[in-house]
Amino acid sequence: MYLSGRAAIVTGSSRGIGRSIALAMAREGADVLVNYTGREAEANLVADEIKAVGRRAVVFRADVSRPDEAGRMVAAAVESFGRLDILVNNAGITRDNLIPRIREEDWDAVLSVNLKGAFNCIKAAVRPMLKARWGRIINITSVVGITGNPGQANYAASKAGLIGMTKSAAREFGSRNITVNAVAPGFIVTEMTGGLPEETKSRMLSEIPLGRLGTPDDIAPVVVFLAGEAAAYITGQVIMVDGGMAM
Ligand code: NAP
Repeated sequence: MYLSGRAAIVTGSSRGIGRSIALAMAREGADVLVNYTGREAEANLVADEIKAVGRRAVVFRADVSRPDEAGRMVAAAVESFGRLDILVNNAGITRDNLIPRIREEDWDAVLSVNLKGAFNCIKAAVRPMLKARWGRIINITSVVGITGNPGQANYAASKAGLIGMTKSAAREFGSRNITVNAVAPGFIVTEMTGGLPEETKSRMLSEIPLGRLGTPDDIAPVVVFLAGEAAAYITGQVIMVDGGMAM
């Protein structure tokens, strides 16, 4: 199996894209720490599915925007699995509004989870990777971080920031055989996009050459690929998985 013997953390893996990534990694042989903030029951279900394919799973509640909680999560993975090879920074939130209406707390919340959260997790997780001289860090950004989107200035800023951090980390850790890449999904059907008005969805759909909205299972195989040996010479890249929407 492609990720046999590896241990991974997938942040925000109780549902949506993170859940799909966690399950795909387990099917390829990795042990996985399932992270969540609120939805404990859903996180437990993901862990049950991981165990059902014969891999180890740890469920860990941590708000990634808090450095102490991110640190404890990494320590729990290393203690449970004896190693940590793969970090997927997937946890993310939106607080959409036009700029004049974005409240300070909505700006801060989105930047804290999406950008600082990834930084907190990288800072903690890179230690065991540096020791092992092997690691894979994959940051889930968004096409919106490249193109911008009205009503998403805070979200787009956080995702663009994540791309800058990805490239900086790739340069810092490359000599230790740690790759750092970003995956930029387009419009993916999850709870995050579920609340958008139908007219927004059909406008987006009309801009997608492949003629359909994406699913979490469209994203997971790309993340699995980047996490394994076949992607050893890829670092600092942003892979768009968007049905051609933002080319
Ligand atoms: P989602 O369905 O809303 O799921 C979000 C996940 O993040 C949940 O597991 C949630 O945990 C977790 N989470 C939220 N805040 C957290 C925090 N502070 N600490 C730890 N975990 C936290 O979102 P999604 O659509 O799967 O999106 C996943 C990632 O893909 C996000 O980074 C998002 O920005 C990105 N993305 C999504 C799309 C899209 O169209 N859906 C497009 C581009 C990029 P709980 O279940 O406990 O709340």
